[in-house]
Amino acid sequence: MEQDALQGEDVCRFMEASLEIILKFDNQGRILYGNALAQEDLGYGEKLTQLKLDVLFPGELHHENEDFPVETLEKMKEGMMYRKNGTCFPVRMTTVRNGENYLLFAINVAKRIETERKLVRMKEEMEETIKVRNEFVANVTHELRTPVNGIRGHVTNLLEAGVTGEVKSTLDIIIRCCENMSAIINNILDFSKLEAGKFVIEQKEFNFYEMVNHAVETNITAINAKGLRIMVNIDKSIPEYLVGDQLRLTQILNNLLSNAVKFTSVGYINIEVTKTVQFDDEIELFFVVSDTGIGISPEEKDKLFKSFSQVDASITRKYGGTGLGLSITKQLIELMHGTIHLDSEKGKGSSFSFSVRMHLSQNREEGVKAGERFEFINQNQDMSQYDDLEKIFLYGTQENQQEITSKMEKLIICLEVEAWDKAEAFAHNIKELVEQGPREVKKSAFRMEMNVRKANYEKSMEQYNNLKSALMENIGGK
Ligand code: ADP
Repeated sequence: MEQDALQGEDVCRFMEASLEIILKFDNQGRILYGNALAQEDLGYGEKLTQLKLDVLFPGELHHENEDFPVETLEKMKEGMMYRKNGTCFPVRMTTVRNGENYLLFAINVAKRIETERKLVRMKEEMEETIKVRNEFVANVTHELRTPVNGIRGHVTNLLEAGVTGEVKSTLDIIIRCCENMSAIINNILDFSKLEAGKFVIEQKEFNFYEMVNHAVETNITAINAKGLRIMVNIDKSIPEYLVGDQLRLTQILNNLLSNAVKFTSVGYINIEVTKTVQFDDEIELFFVVSDTGIGISPEEKDKLFKSFSQVDASITRKYGGTGLGLSITKQLIELMHGTIHLDSEKGKGSSFSFSVRMHLSQNREEGVKAGERFEFINQNQDMSQYDDLEKIFLYGTQENQQEITSKMEKLIICLEVEAWDKAEAFAHNIKELVEQGPREVKKSAFRMEMNVRKANYEKSMEQYNNLKSALMENIGGK
């Protein structure tokens, strides 16, 4: 053991190699020793040992006609150390007694202080930039909202005046464009508020079932237009009235729901709400919004909840959007003390689940009996045909034929009345349903979708008939 302990020789070597300045001095402040770093950094070289310590700390250790203030030095944790050339640097230091003498260890913290200052400056600059940007966003979104509302108002007046035919269809499109624009403006504003930490979650009483219904109603036209099925299932042990931010909860649900509709062309959308925990007046709700749409791959999943992220550029072109929806949704959920999670398989569908915490209303008696369920189903199709969704997309199966026939019937009605938006959705469905079919059929379906998209009645009808014959030959002949 003796041999392992530090020897005097070792100590000297370590002191010489140290990255701290080490000085030995006596009780009069006379420097007896300075290590290599001290000699070099302070600029005195070996002459350091001819000095007294107060030369290195002229401010702090000044002691005209008095004894060297060794106690002051012992208490000093920080100070300014002066070099021979008059420049100085900040140090953190400790002084320890060593027999009759003292040892001072000092480390130059100039770089660290500079880095800290830079960080503080950078943080201030960043905060300033965010502040300016948020003010800019608030102003611009306000300026954009005014003309959009103006256009919507005037177009609504024209519609109410009773226009018909092509003019009405055009005005309907303008109204929809205004709605999209308003949604984008709101998203940008929300995003900016969330980033600035200025978002406040309200605590007000609301009817939970009406809230879910409202979110479904907002999307029901699009759901029906695409021929999708929607099912809502709420665990009835959830009280009718809750306290929380109704508007923001609707926004979360609405975003997930509208995405589900946007990215699903055949099948169904399912909303499930259950109660997971209830403690005192707090309740945790668990929502699942699932669809049988295009799905999301694991690589795409990672990017999903980040701002401005859409899984790929072709999706943006086809479906539009700013990529802010899910990022806002995630932040709103977190403000409600919850989390969001995605399960998905490419080509099969997605299932977004999230939890949020709400409070129970103190003013109401619980009006619902535990164990019952609230259900809402729209009237589109018989659910049983979706039991095996894969078969629907497998060209030539009975399920696939039925689905194609059903969509073709709907498409022809839409073409006859020139309901181009709905027609486009059906033409797109049909194209997906024949994806695995023979070339001839695929080509016709593709051309038909193109012509429907261009709202060309004659060509759409022509392609419709071509596709019908091709289908008859292929499926009908089987
Ligand atoms: P946006 O505001 O543009 O709609 P979101 O953040 O809501 O953007 O969604 C980002 C992307 O996530 C979408 O562009 C889409 O690629 C993908 N996505 C979201 N929901 C679904 C879904 N239900 N099925 C398939 N893809 C989805």
